[in-house]
Amino acid sequence: MVFDSMETASRDELREVQDERLQEMVELAYENVDYYREMFDEEGLAPEDIQSVEDLSKLPFTTKEDFRDNYPTGMFAADMDDVIRIHASSGTTGKPKIVGYTRDDLDVWSKAVARCLVAAGIGPNDIVQNAYGYGLFTGGLGLHQGVEELGATVIPIGGGNTQRQVEMLADLGSDVISCTPSYALYLAEVAEDMGYDIRDLPLRVVIFGAEPCTEPMRMEIEERLGVIGVDIYGLSEIVGPGVSIECEQQDGLHIWEDYFYPEIVDPNTGEPLEEGQEGELVLTTLSKHALPVLRYRTGDLTTLNYDTCECGRTAVRMDNITGRSDDLIIVRGVNFYPSEVESVVLEFDEVAPHYRIDISRENNLDKLKVTVEVVDEFSGSITDLKRRITERLSNVLSFTPDELNLVEYGNIARTEVGKVQRVYDHRGQ
Ligand SMILES: [Zn+2]
Repeated sequence: MVFDSMETASRDELREVQDERLQEMVELAYENVDYYREMFDEEGLAPEDIQSVEDLSKLPFTTKEDFRDNYPTGMFAADMDDVIRIHASSGTTGKPKIVGYTRDDLDVWSKAVARCLVAAGIGPNDIVQNAYGYGLFTGGLGLHQGVEELGATVIPIGGGNTQRQVEMLADLGSDVISCTPSYALYLAEVAEDMGYDIRDLPLRVVIFGAEPCTEPMRMEIEERLGVIGVDIYGLSEIVGPGVSIECEQQDGLHIWEDYFYPEIVDPNTGEPLEEGQEGELVLTTLSKHALPVLRYRTGDLTTLNYDTCECGRTAVRMDNITGRSDDLIIVRGVNFYPSEVESVVLEFDEVAPHYRIDISRENNLDKLKVTVEVVDEFSGSITDLKRRITERLSNVLSFTPDELNLVEYGNIARTEVGKVQRVYDHRGQ
C-alpha cells in the first residue's frame, strides 16, 4: 500500500516532476533570497542555466554556516505574512537555524510524513503515540501533522513523562510510538519496573529518529519491545522528519524525491560520487516556498540505491546514517564514530545497551574512556569480561581505549527528553 501515486511513479515521470519543480525553486530563490542571487551572480549563472536536476552540480553548496550568517530569516523567500509556522534546529552551539513554512509547505510536509507512516505499515486505524518533543524542534509537530493527514489517531504526549507513556501504551493500546532509539530502550526498562511486560502490549512499531542507530541497536529494540523498528530521517533545514523512512522491508530509507532531491558527494572535495559510493548526502528542496534550499550539505554519510524496492516504491533508498561527519571523533589521530563503540557494546549480552564515551587530554595526550553497564544477572569474572570487551574495542577502533569502566546496571544517565548524549569531550576545557 502507498499513500499516493508518486511513490510508484516511473523514474522518467519522476524526473519530469523534479525538473519542473526545481526550475520553480531556482526562480523563487533567485528572486527573493539575497544569498542565492549573490551566489548565482558570483558564479556567472542565471536561473535559466538550471533546467534540470542534472544541472545542480553547477551550483556551490549551501551550508549550515550560510544559515548562521543569514540568521534569523535571511534565507526566507516568503514574506512573513505568508509564513504560518516557525521552527528551529537544535544546535548545541551558537544560535539555532530558524526555518519557516507557508501553508503549502506544511501541506507538503504532512504528506511526506503520511507517506512515511504508510511505508512503515501504519494505517488510518492505528494509534500513534508521539513521544518526540513538541515545540521549536520539528520532530513533535512534524510527526503529529503527518498522523492527522493519514487519518490515524495521534496521542501528542511529547517527550519525557515515562511512566505516563507506559500507562498510555497499556490503557489506550497504542500500536505505534515515535521516539529516539535510546528512549525506546529506556521505556522498556521503566515498563518492566512498573510490572508490565512491554512485549505483551499492542505496541507493534517504533518509529525512531533524531539519533543514529546501529543495526545491533535496532535488533535490541525490536527484541526488547516485541516490535518492528523503522528509522525515519529528516533535518529542519530541509523540512524536519519525513525526508525519508524505511519501508517494511527495512532495507534502506526511501527518499521522497519529488520533494527532496538527493546527491552524494565526496565529503572532502565536494565532487559528486558514482551511484553506490558512500559519501555526504546533499539535499535540494523541490517544493518549499518559505525556505527553498539548494544543495544543502547535511553532514550525513550514506549511500544511495536506485533499484526498485520489493515494496514496489521507485523512490531511491539511502542507507541508515550511522555517522554524521560532525560526530567523527579523533583521538590520538585515529578517527572513529560513536556507532563503532555501540556495535561492540551490543555484541556482549553481559552488558546493557547503554554506553558513554569520555575523551580528555592529560600531558598533551588524548585519553579515551568507555563506560558500560554490567547487567544484574552477570555472575562471571569482571576481569575476564573487561579483557574481552577491551579486545573487541581495540580490534574495531584500531587502538586500545585507555580505560574501560564497568559500572552497575542503571548507572549511566538515561535521557528522557531530546537526544541522548553519549560523547563527552573534555579536551580544551
Ligand atoms: Zn521499500
